[in-house]
Amino acid sequence: MRYAMAVDTKKCVGCSDCVVACQTENKVPIGYCRDWIVEVTDGTYPQLEIEIRSERCNHCDNSPCVRCCPTGASHYADGGVVLVTHEACIGCGACIASCPYDARYPHPDGYVDKCTFCLENRVQKGLNPACVSVCPTKCLYFGDLDDPNSPVSLVLKKRKWKTLIPEAGTDPQLYFLV
Ligand code: SF4
Ligand code: SF4
Ligand code: SF4
Repeated sequence: MRYAMAVDTKKCVGCSDCVVACQTENKVPIGYCRDWIVEVTDGTYPQLEIEIRSERCNHCDNSPCVRCCPTGASHYADGGVVLVTHEACIGCGACIASCPYDARYPHPDGYVDKCTFCLENRVQKGLNPACVSVCPTKCLYFGDLDDPNSPVSLVLKKRKWKTLIPEAGTDPQLYFLV
């Protein structure tokens, strides 16, 4: 099993419903977030294109954050999802510094936090991640890449996609449909 997510940059309108849903579902403290919206403008006036992306942890297959964690708090869980065991985290911040995507934040309670793909609270109960379930344009696709009929497998077969900063060699599992 290999969980992954795809974000349709042609359908995302940047409404931030995914951000609010995540903050509510995962009790993210005020002033922090596990997902965020990026808008990139390309071209020259008047031929401008805007790409809107809902970003989060890439649940990389080759994660520097797991490699550098001195306590083993950052680890690979079911389906390759990268998690942090809060009780084992000493808040040293090595993982924050190592992540090329700036996907982690220091939780005020002393541990480091980030997107979990809602693994334990939703996915393992048969639900979609909170962000996926609320998106009004249905532009987030989640599922098992080893299942050819999962929503994420089907859309990646059908559409062109890219990953972010592939040159970092982290093998990210968050795909952007272009
Ligand atoms: Fe984009 Fe969907 Fe998030 Fe809105 S909820 S910002 S459309 S991903
Ligand atoms: Fe680790 Fe950053 Fe990759 Fe997430 S995006 S798995 S925090 S290196
Ligand atoms: Fe937040 Fe869950 Fe979406 Fe990750 S998968 S951004 S933890 S709602």
